Amino acid sequence: METIERAFQKWRERTAYHEAGHAVVGYCHSRSTLRALHLSTTGQPDSYTRVDAPDEDQIAIAFGGIFAESRFTGRELTIYDAPGDCTALAEYLAKAPWVDVESKRQCARTIVSTRWALVEALARELLAEGDLTGAQARQILADVEVEP
Ligand SMILES: [Zn+2]
Repeated sequence: METIERAFQKWRERTAYHEAGHAVVGYCHSRSTLRALHLSTTGQPDSYTRVDAPDEDQIAIAFGGIFAESRFTGRELTIYDAPGDCTALAEYLAKAPWVDVESKRQCARTIVSTRWALVEALARELLAEGDLTGAQARQILADVEVEP
C-alpha cells in the first residue's frame, strides 16, 4: 500500500511539472517576464507561477500547466482539470476576446513538447527549493539553453 508520504511526494512532483509548464510557456514569449514560482508544502492548491505578460500571452501560459502535467503523468488533461487555470483563462479571455484560444492552446502544447528539457530542469529546482524568484527561474532556463 502506498504511504501518505509517498502519495504527497508524487503529488508535489506532478505539481512542480505543472508550474514549470506555465513558467516555460511564459519564458518562451518575448513580451513576458517570469516573476515567481511557488510549490505548495501543505497539499493545499496554493502553488503558483507569476508571469507579467499581455493578456493574450497569459492565455497560452494558462494552458502550459496542463500540458506539462499531462506529459509527466502520461495522462491527458484538459484545462477543466485545473480549476484555477480555467478561471484565469476566462478572466483573460474576457479582457482579450479577440484572441484565438485554439491557436494559443496549440502554441502552449508545442512549447511544452519542444522545450521539455526546460520544463524538467525548472521542475527539479522547484521541487528542491519550493520557491524560485523570477531571476532564479530565468537563470536556470538560460543555463539549460547554453548546454550543448
Ligand atoms: Zn496551473
